[in-house]
Amino acid sequence: MLNNEQFLDLIRQEPKKIDSTERTQGFDEIYHKFDLDVAKQQADRCLHCASPYCQWACPVYNYIPNWLKLVAEENILGAVEILHRKNSLPEMCGRICPQDRLCEGACTLEDTGFEAVTIGAIERFILEEAINMGWKPDLTHVQSTGKKVAIVGAGPAGLACADVLVRNGVKPILYDKHPEAGGLLTFGIPEFKLEKQVVIRRRKLLEEMGCEFNFNVNVGEDIDIDSLLSDNDAVFLGMGTYSSMRANLEGECLQGVENALPFLIDNVNYRHNFGLYEKSNKDAPDLGVAGKKIVVLGGGDTAMDCNRTSIRQGATKVTCVYRRDKENMPGSPKEVMHAVEEGVDFEFNTAPISIVGDDNDRVCGIKVVSTRLAEPDENGRRIPENIDGSERIIECDVVLVAFGFRPDPPQWLNVNLKEDKTIACCEQQEFAFQTSHPKIFAGGDMVLGSSLVVQAVYEGRKAAEGIIDYLQV
Ligand code: FAD
Ligand code: SF4
Repeated sequence: MLNNEQFLDLIRQEPKKIDSTERTQGFDEIYHKFDLDVAKQQADRCLHCASPYCQWACPVYNYIPNWLKLVAEENILGAVEILHRKNSLPEMCGRICPQDRLCEGACTLEDTGFEAVTIGAIERFILEEAINMGWKPDLTHVQSTGKKVAIVGAGPAGLACADVLVRNGVKPILYDKHPEAGGLLTFGIPEFKLEKQVVIRRRKLLEEMGCEFNFNVNVGEDIDIDSLLSDNDAVFLGMGTYSSMRANLEGECLQGVENALPFLIDNVNYRHNFGLYEKSNKDAPDLGVAGKKIVVLGGGDTAMDCNRTSIRQGATKVTCVYRRDKENMPGSPKEVMHAVEEGVDFEFNTAPISIVGDDNDRVCGIKVVSTRLAEPDENGRRIPENIDGSERIIECDVVLVAFGFRPDPPQWLNVNLKEDKTIACCEQQEFAFQTSHPKIFAGGDMVLGSSLVVQAVYEGRKAAEGIIDYLQV
């Protein structure tokens, strides 16, 4: 058996430099040796604290110590059932939750000088092992209530809502404008973090449980909300937030300046032949970055995904420009570490000023300036200030803007919004996550603003409970 140090060496065994465009399965390369022995050894390290901090730090309040105990006893089928009492998408969360900021960051072992139990990896392992053993959700005891709910958006929030509804005898009918389920899990987060087959496998499991999926249906265009309301007992909205924040820089309209999400979606569409852009080729962005010098603007997880995707596509140089220091980056430290290992250059404390173009209006560089963090403001936040005279140009062929997303509720949505345009609804209402329209519930990024998969799962599940209470079933 591996001891703690050997285990950590194992999961850190990634090559320092990656220059192959073929390399898309990074996660499996790290975890292919994570077998039952390793999982048991890790699960055995749990101290079973009287107050399980890891559970409190997990947004879905996963019963972590309980399933760790079952793994230690080799009871994988018991563990997978307990896991699903709190989490509808454990195989996704196990892979892409920022565990260092959530469950593992709260593990008591961290405070005692040891590394945390590798909770996320075990969560992923339980699901994979259970599937290998032939496990499927058992709904034979569920009696149909005869009620049905339309779900707009088959992202994590919509899938989690569907999971809880169908387990309670309510028929979920999902609509998504994309050709496959998953939302950003499929059309955003790259394959090396989350394999698309894993999302497709979950969609198939949900279909077998009784969920109905309608793809390539844009609600508001192909079908209107009023028909969904009249044909169903309730409607759940989990449509995410998709309005990319602009850089507001001179030169932003030059050829070669692109938003992060189209770049990432194009990458997944190309690799997996999802058939996006078939209807109109003009929509297909020309975003191949092989052989080019790339600058990525931003410091969050989307920026890290752009960095690492560019490396995999064969970019000759990838530079990530971020206006604060490493400690203040919004991205998960784990993601930043991977980007550094894979060869991304980071320009910390550096802010973009303008994008420079050549005679053909194509990007040829980006003008940046060094920054320092000012004294904390009244909110304790240290705003970066430009340092005069430190301006310089970084040569590049492509600039990827990864500054995040703003809520962009559709025009047809007639429910109360908050000032920041997220939907006004919360858990503490009579019916959890009910909007100002009694029959419409909502959850995920369109309620929270851009957040995390596990948060969207939590809200989708809670909204389903709200719907069940509302329907009195
Ligand atoms: P979404 O996942 O956005 O799903 C919304 C769905 O609604 C989509 O499928 C969309 O097609 C559909 N839809 C929208 N409008 C309509 C309409 N009119 N008709 C029909 N369908 C519609 N989180 C993490 O926890 N870990 C990570 O590593 C991570 N990495 C990320 C990387 C990137 C590049 C991005 C952009 C986000 C990342 N996130 C990550 C955040 C996470 O993906 C989101 O918080 C989560 O997907 C939100 O789930 P959701 O269901 O609310 O919305
Ligand atoms: Fe940790 Fe995320 Fe799993 Fe919760 S859902 S236990 S935060 S990996």
